[in-house]
Amino acid sequence: MRKDYYEILGVSRKATQEEIKKAYRRLALKYHPDRNQQDREAEEKFKEIVEAYSVLSDPEKRRKYDLYGEEGLKGKGGGDFFDINLEDIFSTFEDLFNPFGGFSRQRRRGSHVEKTVWVSLEDVAEGTVREVELERTTPCPRCKGTGAEPEAGWKKCPLCHGAGRVIEGGFFFRIEKTCPRCGGRGYVPAAVCRRCGGKGFIIEKKTIKVNIPAGVEDGTVLVASGEGNAGGTTGARGDLRIIVRVKEHPRFRRQGPDLFTEVKVNYLLAILGGEVEMKDIYGENFVLKIPPGTQPGTKIKVPGRGLPHLGREKRGDLFVKIKVEIPTKVSVKEKKLLEEIRKLR
Ligand SMILES: [Zn+2]
Ligand SMILES: [Zn+2]
Repeated sequence: MRKDYYEILGVSRKATQEEIKKAYRRLALKYHPDRNQQDREAEEKFKEIVEAYSVLSDPEKRRKYDLYGEEGLKGKGGGDFFDINLEDIFSTFEDLFNPFGGFSRQRRRGSHVEKTVWVSLEDVAEGTVREVELERTTPCPRCKGTGAEPEAGWKKCPLCHGAGRVIEGGFFFRIEKTCPRCGGRGYVPAAVCRRCGGKGFIIEKKTIKVNIPAGVEDGTVLVASGEGNAGGTTGARGDLRIIVRVKEHPRFRRQGPDLFTEVKVNYLLAILGGEVEMKDIYGENFVLKIPPGTQPGTKIKVPGRGLPHLGREKRGDLFVKIKVEIPTKVSVKEKKLLEEIRKLR
């Protein structure tokens, strides 16, 4: 039985490329196996449509077909191959089936990628931007994620011989199911992609700028949605999850937005009172007032010199613990004066 590709697509012999494409899209959508589950007739029809389109959408093949009919298309390898321009077919499939679901295998969402970023307490105080290097999967540019070597075309599925379905079972019962090799399409790539070995994806290195907000807590997970591993050819990417870890600081300890530090003061300063010059987490100098008679271990609150509250202007406080230094050695003169003071007490 001879097939008339023009009749299959319902176009005239003089149809333009645009008309052929339009007809193909309309029919492929109507007969696509995903929308006609268990319908063998629709499946056959779908394969015919793809085959007809693969010929008529290619000017060279169309010319041969017009001149010699189907025989004109047969190459050395016989009729087993029908060369389909992969890029064309798949971009059309994507256009066609994105809103409707498409091939479920290819629309699976990609997995998440996790990265840990270490920041300093200064970074937490001011907020920072970090460049994060990651490796993630991305659709293979050579085969557009199909896993098939471009130009090599398609061949009939060796498992189901183009039927798209296989029969399993023994003597008493038989089960018909979608062919696992070709996913019901009836055809498989004639050769696997040289770049990705048929996997359909490659590993790409990517640098992504991540905004670390001021006031971030240790262990916070920032999500850059859609920056993770690729799904199938049309599936959405997973997320990039940045786990923010805050390094310990040599001078400051943190509790939420509040900071804690200590300062050593001379015993005379503790007794008589005075001022100490200090630097806060922002690198700003400030003067800490020590009241007379300050006891060792006293905590002095400095309002507003803590960390920012996440997403707000407001800042926490700084608490300075006073450590009183007692000299281990005193001069002869000092000793004399201290003796004098002792007598007074
Ligand atoms: Zn590839
Ligand atoms: Zn098959």
